[in-house]
Amino acid sequence: MIEKGPEMKVMIVGGVAGGASCAARLRRLDERAEIVMIERGPYVSYANCGLPYHVGGVIEDEASLLIANPQLFRDQFAIDVRTHTEAISIDAKAKTVTLRDVTTGAERAEAYDKLVLSPGAVSVRPPLPGLDLPGIFHVRTVPDARAIRTWLAANAKGKRAVVIGGGFIGLEMVENLVHRGLDTTLIEMADQILVPLDVEQARPVEALLRRHGVTVVLGEGVTGFATNPSGAIDVATKSGTIYAADIVILALGVRPDTALAKSAGLAIGDRGGIKVDDHLRTSDPDIYAVGDAVEVRDIVTGTDTLLALAGPANRQGRIAADNIAGRSATFRGVQGSAIIGLFGTTVAWTGASEKTLRRLGRDDYEKIYLYPNHHARYYPGAKTISMKLLFAKSDGRILGAQAYGEDGVDRRIDVIATLIQKGGTVYDLEEAELCYAPQYGSAKDAANFAGMIAANVLRNDMPLAHWSVDHTSLLLDVREPSEIADYAVPGALSIPLKQLRARLSEIPRNRDIAVICRSGQRAYLATRILLQNGFTARTLSGGVLAVQQSAH
Ligand SMILES: Cc1cc2nc3c(=O)[nH]c(=O)nc-3n(C[C@H](O)[C@H](O)[C@H](O)COP(=O)(O)OP(=O)(O)OC[C@H]3O[C@@H](n4cnc5c(N)ncnc54)[C@H](O)[C@@H]3O)c2cc1C
Repeated sequence: MIEKGPEMKVMIVGGVAGGASCAARLRRLDERAEIVMIERGPYVSYANCGLPYHVGGVIEDEASLLIANPQLFRDQFAIDVRTHTEAISIDAKAKTVTLRDVTTGAERAEAYDKLVLSPGAVSVRPPLPGLDLPGIFHVRTVPDARAIRTWLAANAKGKRAVVIGGGFIGLEMVENLVHRGLDTTLIEMADQILVPLDVEQARPVEALLRRHGVTVVLGEGVTGFATNPSGAIDVATKSGTIYAADIVILALGVRPDTALAKSAGLAIGDRGGIKVDDHLRTSDPDIYAVGDAVEVRDIVTGTDTLLALAGPANRQGRIAADNIAGRSATFRGVQGSAIIGLFGTTVAWTGASEKTLRRLGRDDYEKIYLYPNHHARYYPGAKTISMKLLFAKSDGRILGAQAYGEDGVDRRIDVIATLIQKGGTVYDLEEAELCYAPQYGSAKDAANFAGMIAANVLRNDMPLAHWSVDHTSLLLDVREPSEIADYAVPGALSIPLKQLRARLSEIPRNRDIAVICRSGQRAYLATRILLQNGFTARTLSGGVLAVQQSAH
């Protein structure tokens, strides 16, 4: 028989990603602790990431979003789950939390030895006139998704949707509303959707949305809502344009829910999240905090940041549990790996974007654009991946990557994400041993290929030029005449690659030469020929594809 020692009472506020992970992990490590999980809503451990797909009908059954229920937590983990219970304040000195029964309103204080906060984030709701009109929704919880589905069913004739906010939740809602046959408009205040991406990488995604009938409005702020005479909602914008809608989805982003933390006097960071150390301990050593509510360190930039994603929340929940159970576990920080599927394509990114590096005044980076096939070209069905890789000029450390395509995007970004977390370089990426068969990749995988190109640049085998930089170089286009007929680069001297060796005398030796082809590959070959013949040549990264992509 196990001797029963004094029990530690651990109270966890929030019963979804971070909270539920913490509770289950703690039980696996400590059979004796008393674990109480407090959740304001009706459900614990539900898949909020699946909510847009429930609205769209891809996940038809609401019950399948409920990954675990209170009974399972009780039976399998001996965890005391209290749904419909809100933690309203913390007395850190007395080590008590005041709990309110959401149904009856009854309040009482309950003691803890260790407290974990995983209250998540709250949807941003600016004080706009008409924001509470019927037909305007946000998407955070199962009841939110149910309310949208109910509204859509009751207003089946209404065919116009306006989604406000072009982040990943907004875009997932756009896709699902289109899927339901709604005529959908997306309004985004920034001049691009998916702001973690660099603008040129977002442009093809915006074009994709437009190809699927979505009206994409950029650089436009919403100023208010009103019911129009036909009963629909008029969405007014700064430019004076009115967008009529039968349903409006607000996806304006989230901010950390710090109300409880503030009631306990816990330190809040500059970005507005709960401040935690590497062990996820707050400024009170008996209170831990995890998930969307906390401020974390960005391992690429070294700055403090907020990141509302499920992966970090789940891992942090485990780490807090480890520490409470007496182990010493540390959180490594985040790098912002994210992915979104849209109309059969995938967009994914990890690490820092170029605009972030610039904002931080980092000028020691280089970037490449490449367009490899997702698997061997000779095997049917090869699709192009549009990739951008950012790396440090000094030591080749990988700083970030962004990719877009129909297939194979997730794997490449995950490989790069893993290397970034380990402080890997482009030399590691070119040497990464990745699995290959023709239907999955290439002997030189797209990820290796990115590493090889970047390493070529750093070894000075491929001096690089960029379209974004004004240069006085002579543009040399080494594409075939048929390609130039399709898309000509003004002012470029045309010498197809195959003729280059025989026509070197036509190229001035007193000029810098920037070599262009479709994607950069033939331009690299041409650059090598020119360099070895005494010319000063550079490859225009991404070739014509890079220009066409950013011009969408
Ligand atoms: C529609 C949607 C789609 C998403 N899709 C993805 C995705 O595809 N990939 C991804 O990585 N992330 C996605 N996310 C984000 C991800 O769900 C969150 O990052 C993650 O759930 C955060 O975990 P958390 O524990 O911090 O907060 P949550 O999971 O939000 O849990 C917080 C819980 O705490 C409860 N709570 C708050 N305050 C109190 C209180 N005072 N008393 C009692 N209970 C309280 C709340 O009711 C809530 O249930 C999505 C989020 C949404 C809303």
